[in-house]
Amino acid sequence: MSDIFNNELFEAFASASDNVYIYVCDMATDVSRWSKASVKYFGLEGEYIKEAGNVWAQHIHPDDLDVYLADVEAVFAGTKRNHDCQYRAKNFMGEYVWIECKGSVIRDAEGNPMIFAGLMTRIDGQSKYDSLTGLLTTHEMHHFDFTAQPGAALLIGVDGFRKIVGNYGYNTGDEILIEFSRKIKHLCKPEWKVLRFSGDEFLVIAFGAERQNVIDFYKKLRQETDIIELEDERKINISASAGGVLFPQDADSREILINNLEHSLDYAKNNQRGTLVFFSEEIARKHERGLALRDDLKQCMKNNFKGFELFFQPFVDPASHSIVGCECLLRWKGEKIKDSYPMEFIRVLEDYGGIQEVGFWVMEQAMKQQVAWRDTYGELRVSFNVSYQQFLDDTFEDRLVACAEKCGVDPTYIVIELTESCRVDNPEELAVVFDRLRKRGFKIALDDFGTAYASLEMLKRLHIDYIKIEHSFVRELAEPGHDIDYIIIENLLKMCRHLGYDSIIEGVENDKVDDIVRTMDATMLQGYHYSRPICRTDFEKLLDEGKKL
Ligand code: C2E
Ligand code: MG
Ligand code: MG
Repeated sequence: MSDIFNNELFEAFASASDNVYIYVCDMATDVSRWSKASVKYFGLEGEYIKEAGNVWAQHIHPDDLDVYLADVEAVFAGTKRNHDCQYRAKNFMGEYVWIECKGSVIRDAEGNPMIFAGLMTRIDGQSKYDSLTGLLTTHEMHHFDFTAQPGAALLIGVDGFRKIVGNYGYNTGDEILIEFSRKIKHLCKPEWKVLRFSGDEFLVIAFGAERQNVIDFYKKLRQETDIIELEDERKINISASAGGVLFPQDADSREILINNLEHSLDYAKNNQRGTLVFFSEEIARKHERGLALRDDLKQCMKNNFKGFELFFQPFVDPASHSIVGCECLLRWKGEKIKDSYPMEFIRVLEDYGGIQEVGFWVMEQAMKQQVAWRDTYGELRVSFNVSYQQFLDDTFEDRLVACAEKCGVDPTYIVIELTESCRVDNPEELAVVFDRLRKRGFKIALDDFGTAYASLEMLKRLHIDYIKIEHSFVRELAEPGHDIDYIIIENLLKMCRHLGYDSIIEGVENDKVDDIVRTMDATMLQGYHYSRPICRTDFEKLLDEGKKL
């Protein structure tokens, strides 16, 4: 009987197709043999499996298990001729894929089941090649062995692809991806593999390559894809970041390889855009910290926003030196993590979408505070920060308006600061929201203005009330050799006057800078020189003293 396993027919069928998985089971011993492709694709323990029925059942989606068991039972009971059903099974990546499973039972002279043989086909439309770029798809990953020979893998992502699609449309986006993937393929050695990993991400598996080989490859790729020329001769500037992992030393399995590549690419995109960053202990630690932050933040949010607090930094009137308002800045101390700065935890909130809920909390606290101060200190201009992502939330506008009504705040004293306008990939959509909010009286500010080319682009497309001139032009204003900063600020202010916008100069850190900016005709000033962001009671002390800053 054992020759059912060693028979050439099995081998021949087993190797005939990548997408078809065959198995044959000896019913007397309950040992079965699975084709190599099925072992790899479903991550089975080996070709020969004892009690395969139980093992396989663990691969089946819990919702589909009854369908599968009922079908197999009917076949063995003889009430159904062939096993034939569709269900989801877990593959080597832990993903459930739809498969069609067909099989039949061969019985002995007495009618007892002797052999159960069958085949499974993927029916979820997963194909070997990506239809857009012609590259391999990630479903082909299981064919590669990362332990057999050393090499390096790169995960390459086009920077700001959503924005490119927003600006130029889907067809152009596709054209760029095709051209980009063509260049990758062209620069790869024949023994390297290139896969389309996801929308705008490409995976290069450089078997036999060393670190320097892929550095050189990436450098060339960046040079050759810096400008992509489209069929209609338009030229588009492209930047790409990449994560790199050496195997087997930094990843000895597919799962680890993919995880480490993703962490490295994330790191590159967030910290060193446009470069190749290799996986390191530091990246692993940062990732761990990100996960810990996320858990702690979620816990605090569930706990009625325990640990979150608003700090306030004064807006100073340049002429009278008095406090005319403040920016609300979020602070947070977690249950476990006590030392996280806004730049860090806000990025985490943005990454997993928690910023929406926290943002509503900030908005409500800020408005309540404005109203609470009104009787004692008059109307203060109170600003709070809103990420682009928050504006994209369909409920943002309604909740903002409802919140203002509930708090009884006069929207003309509420300034909404759009942070990181360089991330805006659809200014037209944002312009509509801004216009509606401004009609209701809210004021809109572009935060950190001047940090990117995108700022000027934003100014062209959006109607706003304030621009906040970024620290980097202000901080060293009084240092020798910084005339250029002065010229930039002067001209930004001039532009504001022409456009009828108010202005806030941020980052005033010392007397000397203060002396200069006071003469510059900005609407308000802000910076450590006047006060650091401080808690409510400290801020109220400043107001009580009627202090001139
Ligand atoms: P931002 O909105 O540009 O806020 C100004 C940042 O500059 C604050 O950092 C403030 O402490 C700091 N700063 C103020 N004056 C000076 C100065 O004279 N010199 C220097 N070097 N820095 C000064 P902070 O509080 O760490 O906030 C960092 C960023 O986090 C903010 O930048 C803003 O983009 C974001 N953020 C803060 N709170 C929120 C929030 O509630 N929601 C959202 N979405 N983002 C927030
Ligand atoms: Mg701000
Ligand atoms: Mg700012």
